[in-house]
Amino acid sequence: MCDSCSSFLDRLFARGVLHATGVDGLYARGECFEKVISGLDRVISRHGAAHRAEIIRFPPGMSRALFEQSGYMNSFPQLAGSIHGFVGDERDHLALLDKIHNGETWTDRQVATDVVLTPAACYPLYPIVSKRGPVRADGLYFDVQSYCFRHEPSKDPARMQMFRMREYVCVGTPDQVMAFREQWLEKGRDFARELALPHEVNVANDPFFGRGGRVMASSQRELGLKFELLVPIESGDEPTACVSFNYHQDHFASMWGIELASGEAAHTACVGFGMERLALALFKHDGLDLDAWPSPVRAALAL
Ligand code: AMP
Ligand code: ZN
Repeated sequence: MCDSCSSFLDRLFARGVLHATGVDGLYARGECFEKVISGLDRVISRHGAAHRAEIIRFPPGMSRALFEQSGYMNSFPQLAGSIHGFVGDERDHLALLDKIHNGETWTDRQVATDVVLTPAACYPLYPIVSKRGPVRADGLYFDVQSYCFRHEPSKDPARMQMFRMREYVCVGTPDQVMAFREQWLEKGRDFARELALPHEVNVANDPFFGRGGRVMASSQRELGLKFELLVPIESGDEPTACVSFNYHQDHFASMWGIELASGEAAHTACVGFGMERLALALFKHDGLDLDAWPSPVRAALAL
């Protein structure tokens, strides 16, 4: 197959940048892909250094109880994933093996564990912050990262079911949080320029579920609560959101009881970097051979 007639995903597989697993949106990562991810992590850390943010790294799962409290299922039930496990006795085990052997559904008897898959890297942060008492006067800054799950299988390599999200999160007064987001809208553009990625920044909305969701999405746009840095990745398609800039107002802080010293609810904002999307954008624009990438890009990523 010629390079230009196979899909981008097929070419990534052929070069071992990604490896297929048999499930759309679930891929193993090759060495050169991970080198780029590590490079991106360093560039992001450099852009975020001034916050002197507290670093927290999350496992890919979070507490089901906290997830239920977070309200995620009100807005995005279609994207959520939960972890279920076997709790039967030996007889149940034999029945389960029989079902697998016969190609029957065996998962209907699995029960929900205390863990769900993390939908966004900042979700498990707010309950931790809420336990610490009032937010100090100069605000709180966090640098978080998690593998995230979204149930949106797709042949588009940039739409994965499991991917890493690195975020900076600010908790503070409305002014502090707005200033944080303004700074990141600027830094986000600098970041894309440093990596020589074609980009634009646009107002955006989250994929809220159902008819009620359409109202939420348009109000989110009207209030300018979400912006995205978009980079063309799949040719012919719309450009892909690689970085998101979100202002939550007091949504999360009120939900989790995160207060300022005055007793008012804090405000929060986050900037979320889609690590896989950024890496794919670089592979798309600079080719599949890291050694042939432009030297300024290689230097920025310390490859
Ligand atoms: P969001 O919370 O939807 O704004 O996501 C934050 C960032 O994660 C986005 O800007 C994307 O770069 C990335 N992202 C979201 N969904 C996916 C996905 N299905 N596959 C890969 N990256 C994603
Ligand atoms: Zn976030």
